Amino acid sequence: MQEKGTISIHTENIFPIIKKFLYSDHEIFLRELVSNAVDATQKIKRLSSIGQYKGELGELQVEVSFDKENKTITVSDRGLGMTAEEIKKYINQIAFSGATEFVEKFKDAKDANELIGKFGLGFYSAFMVADRVEIQTLSHQEGAAPARWICDGSTEFEITEGNRTTRGTDIILHINADSEEFLDQHKLEEILKKHCAFLPVPVVFGKRNTSVEDGQDENGETKYKTVEIDNIINNTNPIWTKSPSELSDQDYLDFYHQLYPMSDDPLFWIHLNVDYPFNLTGVLYFPKVKKEVELRPNKIKLFSRQVFITDEVKDIVPEFLMLLHGVIDSPDIPLNVSRSFLQADSHVKKINSHITKKVADKLGDLFKKDRKGYEEKWSDIGLFVKYGMLTDEKFYDRAKDFVLLNNTKDEVFTLSEYEEKVAPLQTEKEGNKVYLYTTDPGKQDSFIQSANARGYDVLLMNSPLDNHFISQLEQKLEKTQVKRVDSGTIDSLIKKDEPLPSVLSEEQSATVKTVFEKAVKKPGMNVHVESLSPSELPVTVTMDEFMRRMKDMAAMGGGGGMNFYGSLP
Ligand code: ADP
Ligand code: MG
Repeated sequence: MQEKGTISIHTENIFPIIKKFLYSDHEIFLRELVSNAVDATQKIKRLSSIGQYKGELGELQVEVSFDKENKTITVSDRGLGMTAEEIKKYINQIAFSGATEFVEKFKDAKDANELIGKFGLGFYSAFMVADRVEIQTLSHQEGAAPARWICDGSTEFEITEGNRTTRGTDIILHINADSEEFLDQHKLEEILKKHCAFLPVPVVFGKRNTSVEDGQDENGETKYKTVEIDNIINNTNPIWTKSPSELSDQDYLDFYHQLYPMSDDPLFWIHLNVDYPFNLTGVLYFPKVKKEVELRPNKIKLFSRQVFITDEVKDIVPEFLMLLHGVIDSPDIPLNVSRSFLQADSHVKKINSHITKKVADKLGDLFKKDRKGYEEKWSDIGLFVKYGMLTDEKFYDRAKDFVLLNNTKDEVFTLSEYEEKVAPLQTEKEGNKVYLYTTDPGKQDSFIQSANARGYDVLLMNSPLDNHFISQLEQKLEKTQVKRVDSGTIDSLIKKDEPLPSVLSEEQSATVKTVFEKAVKKPGMNVHVESLSPSELPVTVTMDEFMRRMKDMAAMGGGGGMNFYGSLP
């Protein structure tokens, strides 16, 4: 027997699906409901300011509360409220017209995050944690009657007369058995602090004690008493919403420590402020890079109209800046952001390249205005700059004027300064410049010494990125080769007019050379006999740069490690 058919999908199934598949993000229900409450508050403010609402605004704050016994969480606002008609229009329609489509699309979705992105759960997300959701609301419109809506997560809902006596809305969640963890002071406060810390309307969660001055005692000392005040979760006016001219360095530092309480002071910061062709504000901090501490990406927090969205900033922030700290806020970034959405979003690319440009401008500025300060910070910012140059062509073009090279004598140079410095001596007969570097000044000390003795400079290239940076310099710099100090380059460079003094006669040198050449008979190896003084090294053995790189590569990823040879005493 064979039968074919279509599996039918009913909208009744929608809530179990939401509950089951969006589990990893359950806590976002609070973000959604509180941001709806904030929206409603902003709307009444706007109506009032344009004269369309004539009543008193009252104290505009959003309140979150919970009742462990009755298993409810309530989000209340003094916003514009809804009439019964508006509930039908904004709540029912959105929820239920989208439901079939939701289930339809869900069939092929593999990734729960994608769902959030596509459907922007909003009010809906309440059903992830609640069996029943109730709305009590009173519209700001004159003569409006309070309305109550209740829905148990099926497609059935009920609208009756409500009990709210003041303008605004309560959303009451009857928390389901699986979500009772949310009926907890600490848990809720933690979620609110995460998502709502910078919302533009005060969000109150319970009360807290604080001490205030209470006159003076008989000795004239100030007395204090403890009073209970609203526990306001958020800073409604975070620094990125202000103009840089209103802010002091201390403001930036304070904000930094508010975001990252455990961190050292940052090196410097960049205040982003764009209004064309997209809206973006933010503050990016360059952290102090501690070598021992593993750097963690995704420290930047992404906001949309002061609602925290994510700290997964890949795609928005160029990869080389992911180690920066700070905040970015753009209303052009949708609230229900998901990875796949971000990649598709046209704003994101523009935001990304704008940030790159801003960071390059700031670094260029610092370099120009305060070279000494810039040099002092170089050991911390060098990593970012080199990484940026390696991964972003445009950034390379900007950064080539302020990237610094360190040599083994603790001196720093820009690329053009360095060229000028070494060109006279370190040029081959064919006119190619040769830059020398060391990856390990300890192990390669004898080679550095003999290079220095010839008047050659040796760059210090011992950071993790330097291998790649060297290759890049070779590609980008004209007629320039970059070779490790123990490569066989030294002989090919134009020598100083004065020959180096030697304790050996020519004949002796030739004999020593033959002996050593026999001992290290390998292709690409060179023996130099050219001692400077009896106390120094009479013989050095070097290897062609090409051969060494091949060997390094063979030795898995390179990075030096040429332990079978060094200097021969
Ligand atoms: P969105 O916020 O993206 O519009 P939601 O599903 O979160 O989608 O909310 C749907 C609509 O319900 C809102 O646009 C708004 O009109 C209405 N709404 C939700 N919460 C409130 C509230 N607290 N006060 C007034 N209106 C609300
Ligand atoms: Mg919403």
